[in-house]
Amino acid sequence: MSTMNTVGRPTTPNRVESKPATLTGGRGLLQNEALIFEGDGWGKTGVDLPQPATDGSDLGDLVRRDPIGLPGLSEPETMRHYVRLSQKNHAIDLAIYPLGSCTMKHNPRLNEKMARLPGFSDIHPLQPQSTVQGALQLMDSLSHWLTTLTGMPAVALSPKAGAHGELCGLMAIRAAHRAAGNGLRSDTPRNKVLVPTSAHGTNPATAAFVGYTVVEIAQTDDGRVDLADLEAKLGDDVAAIMVTNPNTCGLFERDILEISRLTHEAGAYFYCDGANFNAIVGRVRPGDLGVDAMHINLHKTFSTPHGGGGPGAGPVVLSEALAPFAPAPWVVNTGDGFQLVEREEDEAEQAFGRLCAFQGQMGMYVRALSYMMSHGADGLRQVAEDAVLNANYIKARLSDVMSAAFPEGPCMHEALFDDEWLKGTDITTLDFAKAMIDEGFHPMTMYFPLVVHGAMLIEPTETESKAELDRFIHAMRALAEAAKAGDVDRFKGAPFHAPMKRLDETRAARQPVLRWTAPDGSNMAAE
Ligand SMILES: *Cc1c(COP(=O)(O)O)cnc(C)c1O
Repeated sequence: MSTMNTVGRPTTPNRVESKPATLTGGRGLLQNEALIFEGDGWGKTGVDLPQPATDGSDLGDLVRRDPIGLPGLSEPETMRHYVRLSQKNHAIDLAIYPLGSCTMKHNPRLNEKMARLPGFSDIHPLQPQSTVQGALQLMDSLSHWLTTLTGMPAVALSPKAGAHGELCGLMAIRAAHRAAGNGLRSDTPRNKVLVPTSAHGTNPATAAFVGYTVVEIAQTDDGRVDLADLEAKLGDDVAAIMVTNPNTCGLFERDILEISRLTHEAGAYFYCDGANFNAIVGRVRPGDLGVDAMHINLHKTFSTPHGGGGPGAGPVVLSEALAPFAPAPWVVNTGDGFQLVEREEDEAEQAFGRLCAFQGQMGMYVRALSYMMSHGADGLRQVAEDAVLNANYIKARLSDVMSAAFPEGPCMHEALFDDEWLKGTDITTLDFAKAMIDEGFHPMTMYFPLVVHGAMLIEPTETESKAELDRFIHAMRALAEAAKAGDVDRFKGAPFHAPMKRLDETRAARQPVLRWTAPDGSNMAAE
């Protein structure tokens, strides 16, 4: 494989310790970067502003007398600080990001251009609706495509993430049960939500937050919902089931129609976790499967940025039965304009109210619609097909050196391995993941789903070319062979080449140091 020599296993051990340390701590044009507080920004400011002409201030006693306590940097210093920090991190603009249960390894630049159009970026939620008709039209179009692609009649756009969408869906379900007289506080309470063992942690957390008791549904040996166990647990005390499809093992729930039939027969609602919608978009409409509510993580299926916890959007589509319980606001096309229904007196009588202030994340709506329109219906369908094809390629190419968690049959958009193949090597999934960093690859999702021992969940998505997948596979195979050959050192101390070496992750989680404090006696304060 001569084309792969860039990631081939080095012929001599390539350890940092075997090289002379640099005198400055920098490495190959990458300088060390201290915290912004540790630089020499104290006692200066980045800009010179003239003294204000007025004397005195309306603030009276509130006027600051002490130094503000922030470093001041010039524009180039500020820029370099943040660019250098960014170089210590991985980004989807650098290479494959094989995390499973995450999707979107690409944020098209077209989306960014559209989101910055003044008619979308320079508007305020309190502007008169007549002045933001274009933005409302965009929300209407997005709603149209989300309901069309899912085959569901209604959508609530405002939830800010998948987990928030779950909250929205379960609150609508609770409102529907209450309206029917069998809510949580009635004499015949439906107080349980059934959740499969492989579910994402947000599912049981959401159900508990809304006031339900979570009951686990068992999983079959081939990674699907155990129908017999579901049937045994369904009853008139169950409010809803929460099932992910394709599920977190990267598998399609073959019995999905039977699951929804049994659920409805028991008088419960079917909440589908739609985090993996990207694997079936354009091919399967969840509405046709009997789903009552499903969130769509726009950052997982429609290319909006994951944003490090920043503004996100997780719209929820709702069935006929749940539509009357959708939260405000929603957009109505009145024929001669668009109207955002947001006042209580306009709301459906049984709606559970508002989920958040204003209308949700406009910038995400623009990016998602931009992605949909640039792909078209055929393009979105191809996204799903290519995402599944790529995952199956990885599964097929790695299954002889690693152990697939569910070897039988094809997977959907994620290839899932367990740590069976590492048995006897003294190397763990975590060690293996750290060694991947040294080879230039961000690790896959580890130890999730919990039902698979030492899980390694790989989701390439449709955006990776065959050449990139081959480079990734080559590195994985080389590492797997090194692990089996007993090259334990390569794994135990890894990463050797990253800016941060092996961290004590437990301690970081248990004793986080989130605030910088000036060393004693230092005079780090600026006017
Ligand atoms: C990502 C994910 C969630 C939570 O979505 P957020 O947008 O991160 O809140 C829920 N369920 C599954 C299966 C997921 O992959």
